[in-house]
Amino acid sequence: MEKIVLVTGASRGIGRKIAKELAQKGYKVIANYNKSREEAEKLQQENKNIEIYKADVSKREEVSKMVQEVIKKYGKIDILINNAGISQEKLFTDVTDEDWNTMINNNLYSVFCVTQEVLPNMLSRKQGCIINISSIWGMVGASCETIYSVAKAGIDGMTKSLAKELGLSNIRVNSIAPGYIDTDMNKNLTEQEVKEIEQEIPLGKIGKTIDIAKCVNWLIEDEYTTGQVISINGGWVII
Ligand code: NAP
Repeated sequence: MEKIVLVTGASRGIGRKIAKELAQKGYKVIANYNKSREEAEKLQQENKNIEIYKADVSKREEVSKMVQEVIKKYGKIDILINNAGISQEKLFTDVTDEDWNTMINNNLYSVFCVTQEVLPNMLSRKQGCIINISSIWGMVGASCETIYSVAKAGIDGMTKSLAKELGLSNIRVNSIAPGYIDTDMNKNLTEQEVKEIEQEIPLGKIGKTIDIAKCVNWLIEDEYTTGQVISINGGWVII
């Protein structure tokens, strides 16, 4: 039977690659996007297994509507990939309440909200796989990215707690914590800065979106991994 996957933030970067790879493998992929309509439409044209859906995942009503419509159409969501996220670099002393709310809502509340909307369907079928995309910065902290790091650490906490709560319902929950991956999120860095980062990475190179998509694929196929934070980072962070 066809497996239904919901990938949040799939118009660009890591989410887009995950959507493409899973669609190629035969999954029916609901590719969520918010602002990048053109990119999302191109993605849909590339593969008949991809269906795009616009929703701001930091807003409960939009998430609820998206999830209900997907379930009405396909009857289920087998796999949820909470990937959508935004970053911001600011001194801690400059961060405003508005920055805090924007970063937490888009990076952490969104994961809480989408997961809560999807879970009743998974629970009723006693089956499910949830993969949250966090970050190495949630594990070790990033200077000038405190709120981002807080949000990502929060995602990993949610992953571990939910894995314990949902294990007996046959729902696995894991995080993938990427290191530096070549996407728009890092486009503010100069070539020189990227070179310097590469020198700090034991494998000597920055990551590609496919590196994360491969891990997603493995976590979907695996049956005995839950509550783990798997960091794909070329050895940049080893703990
Ligand atoms: P990206 O290229 O900037 O893409 C971000 C994606 O998230 C876009 O598709 C964007 O959609 C979507 N998005 C953001 N806010 C959204 C919202 N409120 N509702 C729906 N979609 C939303 O970033 P990326 O590098 O692929 O990052 C993907 C995930 O990996 C993020 O969670 C990020 O924190 C994490 N990560 C990335 C790196 C890295 O080095 N790149 C490292 C560690 C972790 P629209 O453009 O359509 O709004």
